[in-house]
Amino acid sequence: APVVRRTRTSSTCCYCGVGCGVLIDAEHVDGGPSRIVGIEGDPEHPANFGRLCTKGRNLPQTSADPAGRLTHPELRRLRNEPRHPVDWAVALDTVADRLAGIVQQHGPDAVAFYVSGQLLTEDYYVFNKLAKGLLGTNNIDTNSRLCMSSAVAGYKLALGADGPPTCYEDLELARTVLFAGSNMAYAHPVLFRRLEDARERDPEVRWIVIDPRRTDTAAMADLHLAIQPGTDVALFNGMLHHLIWEGLIDSAFIANHTEGFAELKQLVRDYTPRMAADLCGVALADLIQAAEWFGRSPAALSLYCMGLNQSAHGTDKNLALIHLHLATGQIGRPGAGPFSLTGQPNAMGGREVGGMATMLAAHREIGNEQHRAEVEQLWGLPAHTLSAKPGLSAVPLFEALRSGQVKAVWIACTNPVHSMPDIGRVREALQHAEYVIVQEAFRNTDTVPYADVLLPAATWGEKEGTVTNSERRISRVRQAVAPPGQAQPDWWIANEVARRIEARLAPPGVAPMFEFKEPSAIFDEHRSLTVGRDLDIGGIDYARLEAEGPQQWPFAAGAAAGQARRYGDGVFATASGKARFHVTPYRPVAEPTSARFPLRLLTGRLRDQWHGMSRTGRVPGLFAHSPEPGLRMQPEDAARRGLAAGELVRVISKRGELVLPLELSDEVNSGTVFAAMHWSGQFLSSGGINEVSQPAVDARSLQPELKHAAVRVEKA
Ligand code: SF4
Repeated sequence: APVVRRTRTSSTCCYCGVGCGVLIDAEHVDGGPSRIVGIEGDPEHPANFGRLCTKGRNLPQTSADPAGRLTHPELRRLRNEPRHPVDWAVALDTVADRLAGIVQQHGPDAVAFYVSGQLLTEDYYVFNKLAKGLLGTNNIDTNSRLCMSSAVAGYKLALGADGPPTCYEDLELARTVLFAGSNMAYAHPVLFRRLEDARERDPEVRWIVIDPRRTDTAAMADLHLAIQPGTDVALFNGMLHHLIWEGLIDSAFIANHTEGFAELKQLVRDYTPRMAADLCGVALADLIQAAEWFGRSPAALSLYCMGLNQSAHGTDKNLALIHLHLATGQIGRPGAGPFSLTGQPNAMGGREVGGMATMLAAHREIGNEQHRAEVEQLWGLPAHTLSAKPGLSAVPLFEALRSGQVKAVWIACTNPVHSMPDIGRVREALQHAEYVIVQEAFRNTDTVPYADVLLPAATWGEKEGTVTNSERRISRVRQAVAPPGQAQPDWWIANEVARRIEARLAPPGVAPMFEFKEPSAIFDEHRSLTVGRDLDIGGIDYARLEAEGPQQWPFAAGAAAGQARRYGDGVFATASGKARFHVTPYRPVAEPTSARFPLRLLTGRLRDQWHGMSRTGRVPGLFAHSPEPGLRMQPEDAARRGLAAGELVRVISKRGELVLPLELSDEVNSGTVFAAMHWSGQFLSSGGINEVSQPAVDARSLQPELKHAAVRVEKA
């Protein structure tokens, strides 16, 4: 009988930004296949202390069935031909030739990369270096643009640097918890359990939920403000008005540690609680109660997510919430502060390596000459090599592909034909593109059919690297089994193509930049770029992560430990050292309702599904909680339209339509409907809810307003 060996490997869950530690059990048959057979929460990991949510517990089942995985590179010479399998050498040479040729003919900005917050930090690093350092384009954006970029803009403008000032321990120490635009019970379940435990221990802890929907999180709140969609800024301004005029602000903190308060105070003078409550559609007493609980709390923590970020005014929403903390001094102390909950497992790591169109490595700025010079020096590039021109962010990137301004795109570890707003235009963009490279683990995503070349990627449980979770903690991701077929780690694929392009394009005298043999070497180079920066990780390497487990940044060389909270000394990361208030007037949603499109469509997550379901959709048990797609409508709204539960309805916006079964639900208010973001081409005849969503973006964060669109609903 063949010998079967069992292993247990410590790693990190691949889904959300909680970043739970996991222990993966695998079986290896001598001379035969390996497979993941079990999982447990890692009791030692400081994010979850052994807990996992339903998605995490079902990870082995997502790896159980090799069918549906991409196992060989494939390419096609002509668009109307089917792809055929090729070996890696042919695939890599072809990609390198095509990209180098397009750069030589049209310039570096004719190429773009669209990558993912689910890539590991090392993968992200190599892609970013390939685009910016080798090809000379900043056209590398990521699905993190759809996720956290408004939080990034808010932190940078208010506090001077990206990243939350808080840590998970604050969940247990907060006395007032304000959830804004976050159904945390579903989206960050393990952290939500920590909050539940804390409230059980101390029933005096207050929860305030601000959300247009009565989510499961809202149902458990002490106070739920079901605001009209998009009115968050008015609410926060109204709360600030109350705090100012009731003397609940911390004048000494404002005077010593902030600037710009007078201008904001002038603005919020107009936002009386009555005016704000009316505008938001909530009771005046509820707005005042929220302000009182926040302002009088010994420790107020706010937790926020896509409801604030996925908005054409997402930056202002983030700023207006941060203002409440700065005005009351609720920041930099245990249990207090603004805490953005990262959607994806490694959106933080991607920002750290600068893997977006608007930033450089280690939180540096593309427009800053000194920053460009530092990166050029660290990458061994001649002066003035890096482009000073900001790259194309997600929405304009696909528009540029559609118009022909960008000729080629390399999509890695993400499914834009499901997740981008107004996906009809994304499909057109990929049809118009001269060359589409798709790097994927799974065969059945909505984007795969558009690939001219398909590169099979290793995925969770099959590769090595690191991720950074919502509290700035870097954890190792480890390989438990070999990838199927010829699939390779994402960093390896990018590195191999880069080496080939380097041979074709690099000017003489430039030292090779892509000599990486293993992920630890990439991490070491990334670490060297962070030294002296706000996110300094000079004290973290793979050896420390191995010996001491996950670590938080900043963690400079020589420090005994990372820093759990930032700005505890009242010194912020701005040039003046003071946090900055901004003037944040309320602005309505980008697409108002009208006679033709009278309903407000909200989007969000289900409890047991993840993004486009390419992984969770493989596990029958994960459909038990929400078996079918559906459009949720308030019963009286449905009755007025002659619609009944279960019948098929057509959801129509200015951009497109889709058909869904109707669900009657009191979760939404009259005039508002809700659909989950997950269902797409694998499960529907259409591409999902982004057939109708709209692509307006926030002017500063460039994040699209995926949370709201004006629609009408008809019998199908
Ligand atoms: Fe994974 Fe997030 Fe669930 Fe933790 S909470 S097990 S990281 S999906």
